[in-house]
Amino acid sequence: MDFRPTEEQELLRRTVREFAEAEIRPHVMEWDESQHFPMELLPKLAELGLMGIQFAEEFGGSAMSAVEYCICIEELARVCPAIALSVAAHNGLCTSHIAMFGNAAQKAAFLPRLVRGEVLGAWGLTEAGAGSDAASMRTTAARQGQCWVLNGSKSFITHGSIGGVMVVMAVTDRGKGHRGISAFVVEHGTPGMKAGKKENKLGMRASDTSEVVFDDCRVPAEHLLGEEGQGFINTLQVLDAGRIGIAALSVGLAQGAYEAALRYSKERRQFGQPIASFQAIQWKLADNATRIEAARLLTYRAAYLKDQGARTTRESSMAKLFASEIAVKAADDCVQIHGGYGFVKDYPAEKYFRDVKLVTIGEGTSEIQRLVIARQLLGQ
Ligand SMILES: Cc1cc2nc3c(=O)[nH]c(=O)nc-3n(C[C@H](O)[C@H](O)[C@H](O)COP(=O)(O)OP(=O)(O)OC[C@H]3O[C@@H](n4cnc5c(N)ncnc54)[C@H](O)[C@@H]3O)c2cc1C
Repeated sequence: MDFRPTEEQELLRRTVREFAEAEIRPHVMEWDESQHFPMELLPKLAELGLMGIQFAEEFGGSAMSAVEYCICIEELARVCPAIALSVAAHNGLCTSHIAMFGNAAQKAAFLPRLVRGEVLGAWGLTEAGAGSDAASMRTTAARQGQCWVLNGSKSFITHGSIGGVMVVMAVTDRGKGHRGISAFVVEHGTPGMKAGKKENKLGMRASDTSEVVFDDCRVPAEHLLGEEGQGFINTLQVLDAGRIGIAALSVGLAQGAYEAALRYSKERRQFGQPIASFQAIQWKLADNATRIEAARLLTYRAAYLKDQGARTTRESSMAKLFASEIAVKAADDCVQIHGGYGFVKDYPAEKYFRDVKLVTIGEGTSEIQRLVIARQLLGQ
């Protein structure tokens, strides 16, 4: 066993950290308050290779490992969880789905534009009536000649209103249950597809989240992604990898909150001394630092196993469950250590506290992670 990152990985961490501090940190609150996703950041993210982190060089990707993917997402989340969420959804959901299950023509058509950051990727599984129970989706795709005709709507879609390319799951054969769901790539501007309501969110506000509506949206037959009827099964494989990314996001967010709390505890004086000298504060710091290290180990282990080609359903869910829940605790303690200043927008604590709740919900709630883990343990 070797827990040390390589020199290249250390360099990657430093590079992404410096980038996030210089290009993202100064704008975090402005983007949050205006709910603005900074499209102007895309060329800079792409220049660093962050729009195509794990994709093959032949498509312009950075060909990094899953471990390196975690380093990138963690460092972005440490500074701005919302930007990290967008980068994770673009890489880990939309682009991954095309890279994993697209044919040669689809990869050639879509991957270069996605990894160069010319377009943002979106991925549509969830519907108003089908969240945790995603297989009960109502959106349909019916074959008509050389097209598939999509009807229905998707909810809570990251980049739903600003994504240039979207992977959409739809029912192609209702009688076959989850084996009757297929995936399609739909380009922004396709007639019959339009963005619906943009969500006004508690946190992750710089990351666009919108409804997407399909009304007789005709998609060319060659945009069927993967085999007909395999869309939901492929989705579960995409999520096995995606959840490692949300675990890394959680670790980064927790790290950012912990560092803010540590810094403040040394500056803030009460009863004639820094509050860091009080054991009650020290124990919070110690507990959070310990939990963050444990979450990081689970996350990087899942990523390492993925890099070895192993199936990581259980490890991904364990990492996502644990990391997201300890991140909630880290953000809560960060506010508590800041006292009243944790409740106002002059300090970063309140934003971590708002952003963090998404990580126990997105890409499967904590309850669903426990269900996935239990099924794996029981061999179901
Ligand atoms: C900011 C944001 C971004 C998102 N981005 C995307 C995206 O890009 N693409 C996409 O497809 N989706 C996206 N989602 C949707 C997200 O994946 C869903 O919100 C999530 O899966 C939960 O579904 P739901 O909201 O319908 O909750 P529900 O499924 O209705 O769950 C409500 C509650 O019931 C619990 N519950 C449900 N079933 C069970 C069960 N069997 N056992 C125990 N408890 C259960 C849940 O854990 C939860 O506590 C996003 C959501 C948000 C908030």
